[in-house]
Amino acid sequence: MRVEGTFLKSKLGRRVFALFCLAALLPVTALWLLTRGAVHEERERTIEEGRIALAKAYALSVFERLDTAARLVELPAGAAPSLDTLAPLFESVHELAVASGDATAGALAEAAAEAPAARLLVLPPSASDAWPRVAVVRRSGGTAQPAFAAVLSQKYLWGSPDELPAGVAVCVRDAEERPLFCPQGGLSGVAAPSWPLFLKPAFGIDSWTFAAAPDPTAVEREGSLLRTFGLVAAGTVLLVTLLSLVQIRRTLVPLERLLGRTRQVASGSYAPLHLPRDTEFGQLGAAFDEMAARIERQLGTLHALAEVDRRILTALDLDAIIGLVLGRAHQIAPGARMSVLHFREPEAGLLDIYRCAADSGQALRERLHCDPQLLQRLGRDKDGGWRLLAADDPWHVLLRAAGIEPHRVLPLQVRQRSVAAVALDAAADLDPALLDELRELGERVAVAVAAKQRDDLLVFQARHDALTGLPNRFDATETLAAALVRAANTAGRVAVMFIDLDRFKPINDGLGHAVGDAVLVEVARLLARELPPGGYLARYGGDEFIAVLAHAGDPAGLGRIAATLSAALAAPIRVGTTELQLQCSIGIAVHPDDGTQAETLLRNADIAMYRAKRSGRGQYVFFEERMNVEAATSIRLLADLRVALRERRLHMEFQPRVDTRDGRIVAVEALARWLHPVEGPISPVLFVRLAEEGGLIDALGEWALDEACRCFVNWRAAGVGISSVSVNVSSHQLDSARIEDYLRDTIARYRMRPGELEIEITESVIARDLSRVAARLEVLRGFGASIAIDDFGTGYSSLQYLRLLPFDTLKIDRSFLLDIVESEAARTLVRAIVAMGDALGKLIVAEGVESNEQVVLLREWGCHFVQGYVLYAPMGPQRLLEELGSWTSKAGQR
Ligand code: C2E
Ligand code: CA
Ligand code: CA
Repeated sequence: MRVEGTFLKSKLGRRVFALFCLAALLPVTALWLLTRGAVHEERERTIEEGRIALAKAYALSVFERLDTAARLVELPAGAAPSLDTLAPLFESVHELAVASGDATAGALAEAAAEAPAARLLVLPPSASDAWPRVAVVRRSGGTAQPAFAAVLSQKYLWGSPDELPAGVAVCVRDAEERPLFCPQGGLSGVAAPSWPLFLKPAFGIDSWTFAAAPDPTAVEREGSLLRTFGLVAAGTVLLVTLLSLVQIRRTLVPLERLLGRTRQVASGSYAPLHLPRDTEFGQLGAAFDEMAARIERQLGTLHALAEVDRRILTALDLDAIIGLVLGRAHQIAPGARMSVLHFREPEAGLLDIYRCAADSGQALRERLHCDPQLLQRLGRDKDGGWRLLAADDPWHVLLRAAGIEPHRVLPLQVRQRSVAAVALDAAADLDPALLDELRELGERVAVAVAAKQRDDLLVFQARHDALTGLPNRFDATETLAAALVRAANTAGRVAVMFIDLDRFKPINDGLGHAVGDAVLVEVARLLARELPPGGYLARYGGDEFIAVLAHAGDPAGLGRIAATLSAALAAPIRVGTTELQLQCSIGIAVHPDDGTQAETLLRNADIAMYRAKRSGRGQYVFFEERMNVEAATSIRLLADLRVALRERRLHMEFQPRVDTRDGRIVAVEALARWLHPVEGPISPVLFVRLAEEGGLIDALGEWALDEACRCFVNWRAAGVGISSVSVNVSSHQLDSARIEDYLRDTIARYRMRPGELEIEITESVIARDLSRVAARLEVLRGFGASIAIDDFGTGYSSLQYLRLLPFDTLKIDRSFLLDIVESEAARTLVRAIVAMGDALGKLIVAEGVESNEQVVLLREWGCHFVQGYVLYAPMGPQRLLEELGSWTSKAGQR
């Protein structure tokens, strides 16, 4: 809305303008009226005083002339003075004789007789005169002085008109009010003030009254005064009008701008006004700007909170919600550097720390482990607001540990447990309103965490069985489906075991549901305990349980697991005072052979379970018959292996490791062999796995180590110059605590020198837990064994471990060598591996070398050792001794 120049359209503008005008006009008018009256009165008074003074002055001058005339007449001349001497004062002189023929003299004589004391006589005007004639009388003082009267010249007596101020009229009357001299018409109509001239003492007649006419200049002056006043008044009104317009403009323009901006604020636009601050309007504008900014900020925060609420109610993604909160906090208080701590798993001391990147404002999450006891020390907060932190406050300690330099913290609690916290780094004093907003934002995190906990609980309850705490049928189906999808991608095998209690109904019916429930809880506990790591157990319904084994092994392994589960339940259990012996039937279905869908697998496992029940309970049955056979075979084999190990019917072969520079046998790798009396030779790949699954691996490992070292010391005693023997150690072996003992014992027993025994660890072991494996290897190395990484390039994607792991030798897997003769790419790869190992200072062995071309290339690239059928196949210790002997003699002949 434009206001400049148009403000008189504003109602307020018009009103103020009218008020201003009225305020100017009223006093001016009143003053005008008052002044006019006063001026008029004053004029009247002045005029009257002037008139009286004028009349008086005139009267006195007339008196003076009369007096002069009287004196002249009284001159002691002997006779009547001649007119000549008396002119020009007198008009005529007359002897007072009644009988005179002179009419004037006669009239004078009559008059003198009528007033014997009078020295002035007034005669009616003559024919030539306009006014009565006045004569001075000299009474006869005897004979010497005859009485006569001298008629005064009118001109002398009344003076010339010029002697009076211009425009002044006079009027003289005698005591009888007869006009004696009234040249301007006798001042008729004017109640003129008069001044009486007493003539009695001097002339013996009654007073004459003198009046003077008003002075027109006085009227004139009054007029000009009022005109001036009028001009001043008009000027004043004009000035007031102008000033009022200016002031209204000054007032209304910022007011209109404020009004306009208020409307904009109402419609959601918050651009500041920037009024000049010199007036109250400016200050109002500044206050308004501040208010608008605050409203904008608060509305923004409200929007953010609403968005957070929306997300809490919909997706409930804690990361996103905390990101929103941090983003908003960063917007309104970037200097405060808010961070959020979420106690993800307080019992494990696992924290998530969220921070805002200073440049992008993007929330970043970091996971941190801290001492769980630190979290327990935090305690409860009753006040529930910002807390300024002292250095020894447990919160301070915690936040510092998380890498935050906190100034204040807002502990967030759900059901009186600290679940999260918001920390501000800023030491600067923050505006309390801003702190309130930040607190509100922070508290939303607690709401989100509470909602998440509640959701998780609901999800947990929806997916878990209330009695045993195990996942329920719904969760089992979904979990199985997800495992199948993963297995399909990795070509893995997934086994489903359908476990059903035998004769549970009589327990439930006979001993009551409470006992039944207790039995089920105990069964769940036992099954969960016996399940291999990574296995999944659910209660499928009533007395049915489901086990899902991703990465399922062969039927034999599965059979053993099933047997273990059965065995666990077969042990007597105590419920209250009752001791019970349970039994279960297990049906096994395996993806992909028995189905690729969860439902199919479950149904087939169920079918297999019924077969198990039919074939006499307490059994496990594979859905596919072939697997039942395989499982049975494996189990028989395992039993045989156990016997073979006990009776030391395994034997060891050795494959030479050859120096590429001169073809000398420098070392050997021990490879276990088992010749089964019925099945013939069994691959170590198979029987090592059987041993691992059947708990025989330590026995096998101990035997292999002993056998290898025994042979080695024999060769050493025979004087053949090989420097070391390598023994394979499987991942299960490395996990077992016993390896340390028998390795140390064996080294001591055979007095193996450092470096004479090498342990080969397959690369895939390392992938599991690098730091743990590194620690183990360090221990083994400490006993004097050197370490080789076996099958390099097959198990682990990151090369980082090469730097972190303590080892001496790198064995390049045979798969890398397969086409180095044909393929340039394969050559490049192996050359790079050799160069890298060399650069790390490791010995490099290429294994599974099958052609001479390969040997030539490897030697060219600087690979230190080769091992493979093209040079030597694995052989018995005696053969080896012969080989070494012939080699030594050959060398000797050269
Ligand atoms: P490995 O440690 O990679 O052993 C090398 C395997 O490659 C041996 O198979 C060996 O006979 C074979 N080989 C050697 N040169 C060539 C060649 O030029 N071409 C081909 N194709 N193969 C060659 P073997 O003896 O069947 O052993 C298989 C695996 O069984 C071994 O792999 C090792 O992991 C394991 N094993 C053998 N003996 C033991 C033992 O005493 N303890 C443990 N824990 N594992 C053992
Ligand atoms: Ca090996
Ligand atoms: Ca190998």
